[in-house]
Amino acid sequence: MLKDNDQNRKPLMFYVAIAAAVILLLNAFVFPALLQRQVQEVSYSEFLKMVDAGKVTDVSLDQNNAQLIFLAKEGEDQGIFKTAVFPDDSLRERLEKAGINFAAQIPTSNSPLVNFVISWVIPILLFWIMGRLLSKRMGSAMNAMSFGKSNAKIVASEETGVTFADVAGEEEAKDALKEIVDFLEHPGKYASIGAKLPKGALLVGPPGTGKTLLAKAVAGEAKVPFFSISGSEFVEMFVGMGAAKVRDLFKQANEKAPCIVFIDEIDTIGKKRDTGAGIGGNDEREQTLNQLLTEMDGFDGKKGVVILAATNRPESLDPALLRPGRFDRRIPVELPDMAGREAILQVHMKGIKQEDRIDLKEIARATSGASGAELANIVNEAALRAVRMGREKVCQEDLMESVETVIAGYQRKNAVMSENEKKIVSYHEIGHALVAAMQTHSAPVTKITIIPRTSGALGYTMQVDEDEHFLMSRDELYNKIVTLTGGQAAEQLIFGSITTGASNDIEKATRMARSMVTRYGMGDFGMVAMETLNSQYLGQDTSLACSPAYAEKIDDQVVRLVESARKKADGILRENEGKLHELASYLLSKETITGEEFMKILKGEQAEALPAGEANTASGL
Ligand code: ADP
Ligand code: MG
Ligand code: ZN
Repeated sequence: MLKDNDQNRKPLMFYVAIAAAVILLLNAFVFPALLQRQVQEVSYSEFLKMVDAGKVTDVSLDQNNAQLIFLAKEGEDQGIFKTAVFPDDSLRERLEKAGINFAAQIPTSNSPLVNFVISWVIPILLFWIMGRLLSKRMGSAMNAMSFGKSNAKIVASEETGVTFADVAGEEEAKDALKEIVDFLEHPGKYASIGAKLPKGALLVGPPGTGKTLLAKAVAGEAKVPFFSISGSEFVEMFVGMGAAKVRDLFKQANEKAPCIVFIDEIDTIGKKRDTGAGIGGNDEREQTLNQLLTEMDGFDGKKGVVILAATNRPESLDPALLRPGRFDRRIPVELPDMAGREAILQVHMKGIKQEDRIDLKEIARATSGASGAELANIVNEAALRAVRMGREKVCQEDLMESVETVIAGYQRKNAVMSENEKKIVSYHEIGHALVAAMQTHSAPVTKITIIPRTSGALGYTMQVDEDEHFLMSRDELYNKIVTLTGGQAAEQLIFGSITTGASNDIEKATRMARSMVTRYGMGDFGMVAMETLNSQYLGQDTSLACSPAYAEKIDDQVVRLVESARKKADGILRENEGKLHELASYLLSKETITGEEFMKILKGEQAEALPAGEANTASGL
């Protein structure tokens, strides 16, 4: 671990305490000494008295010959004194007789020691303290400012304190890593049979799935030191620093074997090297990468140093990194399935005070596609909400609400929508819900709300599948597009005009339709890839893989697909216009309704006694 990591970061209070201690010490010891050096003024006759009493040891004149400075050593009169020069011819004789040192140098200013303390030690101390504070704040940016040598003090943390029990789900990844743990625990077993374990393993998967956590868990399980550095830390401001850090890292790791070296976000240094066509500027990164490759070849695999790396862009890595003898083992860390999500929620709910009737399955069902990090965040948001509400335990509602917070942002309680806008949003949302409910292959509606969210959503309809899908049929995809168009279709049908509220729906519908045509073979082209995914794990980043002539045809098909979906939605809404009015006005009066309420009204049962006239108020629009 790098020195300037969180773990070693002392709180600000620590430095405040040091400063306070320094000031206290100054008060106790240095300032009294300063005071002693002060010169007391006495009368000439007093001076003579002190000379006669034998108290005076040294006498001299000040620079202007205007005053006598003298030193007294005995009794209470200890210290430095001064007195006005008095024309006194007998003085010299008198001083000689008393055996007083005259014309001696008497320092009226502070002693050199005190001077030194004031002018050097205190400022240096203050600078040092400020410097420490600053470097803590700025992290490695400061390190990069010092030339010459590597400041990469990479310190292993002995115990990560994380074990496989802290990583829920991800059983396949854990299985693959267990062998490495065993190797670290008993390197001799492998060496005696002549087996070499892979030097490196690469954890790949979408962000937040627990790659970093798994690496720590391997170290924790094997109880070996854990050297961790992230790819971006390697890339430094000055040429040579990154490579020096790699050298340093491996030197230390070799001394501490068996141990784990973990390079997080290795794609930052491990990108495919320039083919020469590029403009310079990547020298530093390439040097770092080359050094890493050299070190990986150089170290003794039997010794028990295992290199783990993590990335969410495996496709961008330099092939040289992936060849046998380097990161040849690839361990996928995928988004959790429903059981995995429940297990992750369980792990994070462990330390949280909660009511008995918590149903984590429900939360797991509602969070399809969420990563471990998002689930951890949901649990924490729920705990925060419980505190805000003045409760001592987290309840199911806290969890459900925080799912929505993570999906759609916080409720904007103070946002005031006009009645008219609320009405439009109600119809829009019921449009989605009604179209979804009237189609097959469509997840049940669980909640509809018109309370605005910080994400900018003015309302939304939540659909949650009963169980998990790994495949989607063409019908399911198409019906999803139909549902997405249902919102604007309802606006058009009821108000005769449309609003900007559907922009997000439009984006999603277009993206889906496009994928159907270009990547899933569900358009007119058959099984031809017209687009390719740039990154397996990072969402919808695609690039075109066809000629411009085909690009035009793709656009045509996408437009037609969405158009036909919109027609279908429109038909469904026209057929159920009565229900649309009834449901929209119910939503308008309630602001949030559950899936059950929605289904009851849809099936003709009154969800709740609604004032007789109200259900029809909107029908006049
Ligand atoms: P990655 O490195 O894959 O982007 P991290 O390992 O940094 O993700 O995960 C971030 C946080 O998310 C972890 O600290 C942990 O709290 C939580 N988390 C992610 N995956 C899991 C999991 N499988 N089990 C438990 N917690 C998880
Ligand atoms: Mg990570
Ligand atoms: Zn919508």
